[in-house]
Amino acid sequence: MPKHIPIRTCVACRETSAKRTLVRVVRGADGRVTVDPTGKANGRGAYLCARPACWEKGLKSGVLGRALKTEISEADRAALTAHGEQYSHDPDA
Ligand SMILES: [Zn+2]
Repeated sequence: MPKHIPIRTCVACRETSAKRTLVRVVRGADGRVTVDPTGKANGRGAYLCARPACWEKGLKSGVLGRALKTEISEADRAALTAHGEQYSHDPDA
């Protein structure tokens, strides 16, 4: 039997990938929308590719908020935008 690999869909580009290559964003019980590096936080989650374009699209088009069924606050939006921008940085730079 092949080992089960969880597949998730990026809410921005709709591409499917193995769960570990996507970044989970979670809406917590307090309504804050944050990055969930563990992938295990409680709350409604959505996934985005580790690509700046997907974060930008997810936030600007409102698709991320819709996936999480919430209105993302300006503060959370700014933090998520900054997080997405990290992926454009060359790790060796
Ligand atoms: Zn994507």
